[in-house]
Amino acid sequence: MNEFELIRRYFAAAAGGDVVVGVGDDAAVLAVPPGMQLVVTTDTLVAGVHFPERTHPADIGHKALAVNLSDLAAMGAAPAWFTLNLTVPNADPDWLDPFSKGLLQLAREHRIRLVGGDTTRGPLTLTVSAFGLVPAGAALLRAGARPGDGIYVTGVLGDAAVGLRFLHGGFDLPEEYRAAVLARLNRPMPRVREGQALRGLASACIDVSDGLLADLGHILEASGQGATIELMRLPVSLAFRAAFAQLGWSLALAGGDDYELCFTVPAEREPALHAVSARFACGATRIGQIEAEPGLRVRDQAGGLYAYENMGYNHFLKS
Ligand code: ADP
Ligand code: MG
Repeated sequence: MNEFELIRRYFAAAAGGDVVVGVGDDAAVLAVPPGMQLVVTTDTLVAGVHFPERTHPADIGHKALAVNLSDLAAMGAAPAWFTLNLTVPNADPDWLDPFSKGLLQLAREHRIRLVGGDTTRGPLTLTVSAFGLVPAGAALLRAGARPGDGIYVTGVLGDAAVGLRFLHGGFDLPEEYRAAVLARLNRPMPRVREGQALRGLASACIDVSDGLLADLGHILEASGQGATIELMRLPVSLAFRAAFAQLGWSLALAGGDDYELCFTVPAEREPALHAVSARFACGATRIGQIEAEPGLRVRDQAGGLYAYENMGYNHFLKS
């Protein structure tokens, strides 16, 4: 199978609707509706860095798109189109078939269309670029948090990191929780509808990919504010609780790969938020508030300051 057969077999996609020209020409031509702004994001997954080498190809396909959908969600954007840059060691149908199915299944669920890409040979690496739409001026940014705003997160924190820790061995997780944490690691569910529902409500928003402390830290830095969050309010799963005696709080605070949204809401909009978030299947939990005093404080059950270390994953940090 050569490069062109590979593209035709797995990644051919019909044009039509807002895809004026899709896969197959030198570039795609896309129709941006009047009054909308284009939101663009890209993320690369490298085998052995972003997923364990032996991860199932369908999970890799899912995750390559999911992490980009999560960025669109964090901006409050509706997914529209994506491109796929695929570097594979060889054109192996036993890998490409489940990979493309995992990818395109999630694409269908979120009505996002593949419109192009590039295909090269080399160590397994996937880059997806995703394009979304927001009404002009309505994108959710990191910079809008103000003192008094409530800090919220969707879903639960730490499960993906518990799953990764479990794969690496060295701790004992009861059998009944294993599938759930591995699904959180391999099949993140980007909060796409929730992100769009936060438009006009959230003052700042980010997706939690590197760990809550690190990502909330980005909101604080961009907004020029500080914050206090409360440990006892962090939303965690039963699986997390089962692992708690061995792992403690650190994976909920600083574990990566949650792909939840962390956002802030001014006090006067919190009732409106609660009305909207009551319909989120994943829920949304208030974990603290923005403060003028710089720095990020974590309070424990007794109200004392909790000392934390690890601020999340950093590719260029020496270990
Ligand atoms: P060029 O040489 O002009 O870069 P390519 O041969 O790389 O063209 O790509 C041909 C067409 O196939 C283009 O429309 C490109 O967007 C698309 N394409 C290439 N690789 C992929 C892929 N992995 N997924 C989707 N579309 C792809
Ligand atoms: Mg090319």
